[in-house]
Amino acid sequence: MGINQFIIGLVHEADWDKEALSEIERQYDLLLDFYLWAKDKNLPLRMTMFEKSLDEVKRERKHVWGCGAGSGRIAVTGEGKIYPCSRFAGSNDDRYVIGHIEEGFYKSKLPEALKASAWARPKCVKCPLSDICSGGCPAVNLEATGSLYEPPKAYCAEVRAWAKAMSKLPETALPKTEEQEKPCPVEG
Ligand code: SF4
Repeated sequence: MGINQFIIGLVHEADWDKEALSEIERQYDLLLDFYLWAKDKNLPLRMTMFEKSLDEVKRERKHVWGCGAGSGRIAVTGEGKIYPCSRFAGSNDDRYVIGHIEEGFYKSKLPEALKASAWARPKCVKCPLSDICSGGCPAVNLEATGSLYEPPKAYCAEVRAWAKAMSKLPETALPKTEEQEKPCPVEG
């Protein structure tokens, strides 16, 4: 099929029961096995979630909360309303409008709220995974739990499953930076 790169994302805000939540860890183990099998065969397979060491992730995410919505990126609707991201724009909820294309940005506390620290996130502040996690997508959090700062269970279960899988990943399976910059062998 010519597909060799996978970015896997769960629908965290869906209704996950206990059984489905516990399946996430098993699926991550299967994904890791498949990734290591492909590496062993020298296949040009990429799975972005396994391409950085936990130490690298820790260095990058230290003190980074939220996702840059409203500060690093915005979304503009056909009517010209500015939202922090496309997900908020999709809500079509005027409470999350932070400006208008013809009027500029409004005074809004929302962009600041979106990047608030771990202290704003009661669950995260004591979580052992907080140094590799940024607290979940605020828009998904809002939809799933009614709070920008409270992640749905499936999100935390995925972070835990991914971290566990990563701790089993041998250093040798991490791609070297120069290798990542080479053109895709399939595209040539
Ligand atoms: S895993 Fe969940 S509780 Fe832990 S830091 Fe991430 S979002 Fe917060």
